Amino acid sequence: ASAAEPAEPPAAEERAEAVAARFRELYGAAPEGVWAAPGRVNLIGEHTDYNEGFVLPLALPHTVVAAVSRRTDGRLRLHSADTADTDGTDDTADTAGTAGTDGDGVRETTVAELAPPGGGLGWAAYPAGVVWALREAGHPVAGGADIHLASTVPTGAGLSSSAALEVVTALALDELHGLDLGRKRLALLAQRAENDFVGVPCGVMDQMASARATEGHALHLDTRDLGVRQIPFDAAAHGLRLLIVDTRVRHALGDGAYADRRAACERGARELGVRTLREVAYEGLAEALDRLADATVRSCVRHVVSDNERVRRVAALLTAGDIRAVGPVLTEGHASLRDDLRVSCPELDLAVTAATGAGALGARMTGGGFGGSAVVLVAEADADRVAAAVTEAFASAGHTAPRIFPAVPSPGARRLV
Ligand code: ADP
Ligand code: MG
Repeated sequence: ASAAEPAEPPAAEERAEAVAARFRELYGAAPEGVWAAPGRVNLIGEHTDYNEGFVLPLALPHTVVAAVSRRTDGRLRLHSADTADTDGTDDTADTAGTAGTDGDGVRETTVAELAPPGGGLGWAAYPAGVVWALREAGHPVAGGADIHLASTVPTGAGLSSSAALEVVTALALDELHGLDLGRKRLALLAQRAENDFVGVPCGVMDQMASARATEGHALHLDTRDLGVRQIPFDAAAHGLRLLIVDTRVRHALGDGAYADRRAACERGARELGVRTLREVAYEGLAEALDRLADATVRSCVRHVVSDNERVRRVAALLTAGDIRAVGPVLTEGHASLRDDLRVSCPELDLAVTAATGAGALGARMTGGGFGGSAVVLVAEADADRVAAAVTEAFASAGHTAPRIFPAVPSPGARRLV
C-alpha cells in the first residue's frame, strides 16, 4: 500500500507558478511574490517545549506555498486550494463563520475587525491570526493583503500544517513590508497567532522548525533561550532512511489530555521548587522523583527530564556521525511517552512494534500523541519490508491503512518568486 504514495511531494519551487496563476485568476492581478514554508517532524524531545526543554525537529519537503500581495484599503482576502470551495465537505474546511465567503471560496474580512477568538474564520483563522499578531505588535499591516495558498502538508497528522500556514504568511508579510523581523521573532508571532487568535495552546517548536530549519539538518532548539544549532542529519549517506508513518487517526482525547499533562508538569516544577522542569538535571532525576508524592506527576516529570536527556544523546550521536545508534534512543523515547506520559494510542504503539519487529533500528510516536504520526529509522535495504510489515499489521488489526513516506530534512521557509 505504501508503494502507492509518491516518495516525495513535488517541490515548492515547481508549484510556485501554478499558485501564482491561480492567484491571478482569483484576484485579477499577479501576486507581488510567492513564498513557501514546510511542515516538520520531530525526531526526539516530545512535550518538552512547554517545559523550556529541548527539541530536535526537521523540516519536511511538504510545504505550504502562498502567493501574496499587499492591499491599501484594509481588506484581507484569503483563499486555500485545499478547502472545498462551495460545499465545505473537505475536512480542512470549516464553513461556519462570520467572514464572508464568495463563490470562489475566498474568505474576506478586514484587518481592523480582526479580534480573538478567531474560530469563526475557520481555517482562515491561521493566516488571519498572523496578520492580527503583526498588527498587535505595532507593525504596519493595516492596509491588508490578498493571499492564495496550496499545501502538500498532510493536515492533522502531527506534521504541523498549521505552523506552515502561519509561517508562510508571516514571512511573506515581513518581506513585503520590509519589516526584517528575523526568523525567531516571526516564529514567535506565528505561535502567538495560534495560541491567542486561533486558541490552540501549542508550544513554540512547530513555528521555529518551519521558520528556522535548514536542508540536510535537524534543528536543535533550546526552548528557553530559543537558541538553535543546525545538526547534520544525512540518513541516506549512512544507508539509512527516516520514515513517517501517518496513522491517519486523531483521537478526541488529545486536546484535554494536552492540558492535563501540561498542568502535571507545572505542578511537578512547583513541588520541586524550580521554575520549569528544564531546571531538573537528568543526574538528579531519581532524587527529584523521590520528592514527588503524586504518581502521575512523578511519571510526567520522569518523561520530560529523560526526554531532554534523549535529545542531548541524539544530537551528540548525529554530530558524531553515528546515526544507527539513534534508533534505540527513539524506541526508548516511545516507551516513555506510552508508559510515563501516557499520550500514545493503539495505532501509534502498533506502528512502533510492527516497525521494530520487522527490523527497523528504532521508532517512536512524534508530535503531541493520541494519533498523528510515528517516525521510523530503518536501513535502506529494509525500508520496503518494514513499511509493508506496518501496513500489514494495521490491516490485521482492522485499522485504516497508514500513509508511509520518507522524511528528508528539507529547507525552512523561503521566498520562491
Ligand atoms: P497539524 O498542524 O498537525 O496539521 P492542526 O490541527 O494543528 O494539525 O492544524 C490543521 C488545521 O490547519 C486544519 O484543520 C485547517 O484549519 C488548517 N490548515 C492546514 N493546512 C491547510 C490548508 N492547506 N488549507 C486550509 N487550511 C489548512
Ligand atoms: Mg498544528
